[in-house]
Amino acid sequence: MPSAHITFDQTGDKIAGRIRKMRPSAVRSLFAAAVRPDIISLSGGMPDVSLLPEESIRDATRAAIEDERAVALQYGGTDGRLETRQVVCGLMRDLGVRCKPDEVMLTTGAQSALDLIAKTFIDPGDIVLAEGPTYLGALQAFSAYEPDVRCIPFDDEGMRMDLLEAELERIGKGNPRLKFCYVIPNFQNPGGVTMVPERRKRLLELSHEYGFMVVEDDPYGRLRYDGGHMIPLKALDARVVYLGTISKIFAPGLRTGWIVAPKDVLARINLAKQGTDLCGSSFDQIVVEHYFTDTPWERTLQRFLSVYRERRDAMLGALDEFFPPEARWTHPEGGLFVWVTLPDYVDTGSMLGAALDAGVTYVPGDSFYPDGVTGRNCMRINFSYETPENIVEAVRRLAKVIEERLEL
Ligand code: PMP
Repeated sequence: MPSAHITFDQTGDKIAGRIRKMRPSAVRSLFAAAVRPDIISLSGGMPDVSLLPEESIRDATRAAIEDERAVALQYGGTDGRLETRQVVCGLMRDLGVRCKPDEVMLTTGAQSALDLIAKTFIDPGDIVLAEGPTYLGALQAFSAYEPDVRCIPFDDEGMRMDLLEAELERIGKGNPRLKFCYVIPNFQNPGGVTMVPERRKRLLELSHEYGFMVVEDDPYGRLRYDGGHMIPLKALDARVVYLGTISKIFAPGLRTGWIVAPKDVLARINLAKQGTDLCGSSFDQIVVEHYFTDTPWERTLQRFLSVYRERRDAMLGALDEFFPPEARWTHPEGGLFVWVTLPDYVDTGSMLGAALDAGVTYVPGDSFYPDGVTGRNCMRINFSYETPENIVEAVRRLAKVIEERLEL
């Protein structure tokens, strides 16, 4: 009798089409191989959590372990703990957004919010608009639901509204397949650019004219090193779906993010979330709540800002000093990343091996486009994690690798 047991080798044809279509990242395996201690990484997007004061962590965690242990170790509501949502409302108020706790849902980082939004809104073939390049993790989250992602290029002032309008003309007004436009208006990942106020207003006007939702992802809004605060899209239009996170202002290890959205939208996302995780981590939510109420978190944030500002300046200074005139790069006023554009014939994916040999890593630009082809002559480099000295050395190494590829 044939055995009903399926071995690992035989599972290939059982894999769902949506996963089969996903490309494994060649870059990830390259990085995994690169464990040499002399390699300086400009590839990650990690905040420097060593800057967090131990006392603040201890105070915030003590509440979860001592005062509220029974709640911390128990299931919570799908939307998340009320007290933590109240804290989120306070954080949003600082940014100019008025919201109530019932318009807030806590998620397992902003990453799971991206997945939940895709799960709630995208049917296969639906159109999603995004900046091009855009956040790799958003592309990964969306791709499981098989949308047609159309990328709109940006310049120094954020997403190009003329190109967005041209794309919308092609899609047509009121097209039911057009679901949402995903934007990172502040210090975009990977671009480092910020959308200027006129374009923010125009995007919202277009969303009403053509009938699509705006999803505003804002992990970096508070990481501003120069210039003034920009009003979030959410403050200008209550229908915007806003994503926030503590990852860059506190700690990404406490997987806590949030969605601020109209109640009718949240009710649908709540249904999607029940099947995903029932509820987020009560423990993490209590720690987060106490961190933002009982510790001098704003002082800690200032420390993050001054350290990152210095690292950003070190990177921009080194790019000016070492990079060839054929290269162009963005000048971020905040966030964690610089986007570099090289001549068209340079392929940053195939250059990565040489960069690793030279002791430096970056993320090749094509990772940030859904077609995996556009952006081949570009790269994302990060300045939040290494010391200024290491950043300067890494840029110097990278410049040499690039120069070897330039056609003279
Ligand atoms: N959105 C963007 C634009 C990001 O850069 C990141 C993380 N790097 C996330 C979402 C996910 O953040 P979280 O740690 O809150 O899941």
